[in-house]
Amino acid sequence: MFNSSEIRSQFPALGQKVNGHDLVYLDSAATTLKPNVVIDRITNFYKFETANVHRGAHYLSDKGTVEFENGREAIRKLFNAASTEEIIFTKGTTEGLNLLASSYGETFLNEGDEIVLTELEHHANIVPWQILALKKKCVVKYIAVNETGELEASSIDQVITTKTKIVSFSGCSNILGTITDVEKIVAKAKSVGAITILDAAQLISQKKIDVQKLDVDFLVLSSHKLFGPFGFGALYGKKSLLSTMPPYQTGGSMISSVGFDKTTFNDLPFKFEAGTPHVEGAVGTAAAIQFFTKLNIEDVFAHEQKLMNQLTEGLLSIPEIKLFGTAKNKAAIVSFNLQGAHHSDIGQILDQMGVAVRVGHHCTQPLLKKFGLTGTVRASISLYNNETDIEKTVEAVKKARRMLL
Ligand code: PLP
Repeated sequence: MFNSSEIRSQFPALGQKVNGHDLVYLDSAATTLKPNVVIDRITNFYKFETANVHRGAHYLSDKGTVEFENGREAIRKLFNAASTEEIIFTKGTTEGLNLLASSYGETFLNEGDEIVLTELEHHANIVPWQILALKKKCVVKYIAVNETGELEASSIDQVITTKTKIVSFSGCSNILGTITDVEKIVAKAKSVGAITILDAAQLISQKKIDVQKLDVDFLVLSSHKLFGPFGFGALYGKKSLLSTMPPYQTGGSMISSVGFDKTTFNDLPFKFEAGTPHVEGAVGTAAAIQFFTKLNIEDVFAHEQKLMNQLTEGLLSIPEIKLFGTAKNKAAIVSFNLQGAHHSDIGQILDQMGVAVRVGHHCTQPLLKKFGLTGTVRASISLYNNETDIEKTVEAVKKARRMLL
């Protein structure tokens, strides 16, 4: 059974007061808090295991290398990739997408080719493709989103055509919570011979992902959204595709041999990892994955859904509340506005009451524009939240209403 109070005790950040109130942290879609096991693992690494990895001739370097590569194995196992050669360490989702646009896109796309995204995408999955399209004279198209925040099934069929070379889409919207139909999009992309990229930044904490079963070509994620460290993430890619792609960045580590006139490149995955790597990122991520996978992801999802329903109900008892994103299948991310008040003012009042939410465009400006909005308040729930958090949040929104309307 899922025991939220036992879980909460593992997150030291939750023990503090903010503006005189116990912290209510509802900003987990931006970044999750870190449990003791992750903090301690990273601290321990810095205290006793600091050394650069690979090619070291001493104990600490060898140990560091083993721990670093254990991080790769933990990520491989997390979504059942066939081999650690298919796991490239990155700075996070954003870098993974830039790597793909640059290395795959610039090599394999030609004038007139089409790149398909969805209207739900985070800026990280829009801007690299727009830049690529400008360079290569390609076209970027979008699968439409309806009022509830779901992708239009008919739009998937219309937008993905034989001209489509890449379909890059989020498995879970960071603003509306919508969990997209990955199987359907992959099947359609395959039917026209396009490659698929799954942005799993949010999905990774919601659903078990099996890249072999889903048959996606690439997947990107950020460790900091899965209880792990900042500045670290991974790109999964099928070996058959990664082997055909040129390096993204160059320098040390990614080479096999360097001469004054010519360089040959290292094997996968190192071909894509130039320079000294983020060792504690890999070490901390392994600890975060161990923490997360000890829990039953379905129990976690059910716990968060229960709290989302409690929050939705509480908010809807306030007449001026307007919710955005009511898809049937959605993560516990609740976006809303209080009609007649500015989202930033609500955020400030909530903060005064110790409730941490995010306000603004959430890096989804095109989607907000489509809905005629400039921003929302977003409360995103994670496994360490509880019913008291939600009660306090609803009370804080009611107070904001009294102060602002
Ligand atoms: N994609 C989605 C769906 C996200 O939610 C985010 C971050 O919020 C990103 C991409 C970018 O992730 P990062 O900033 O960790 O690279």
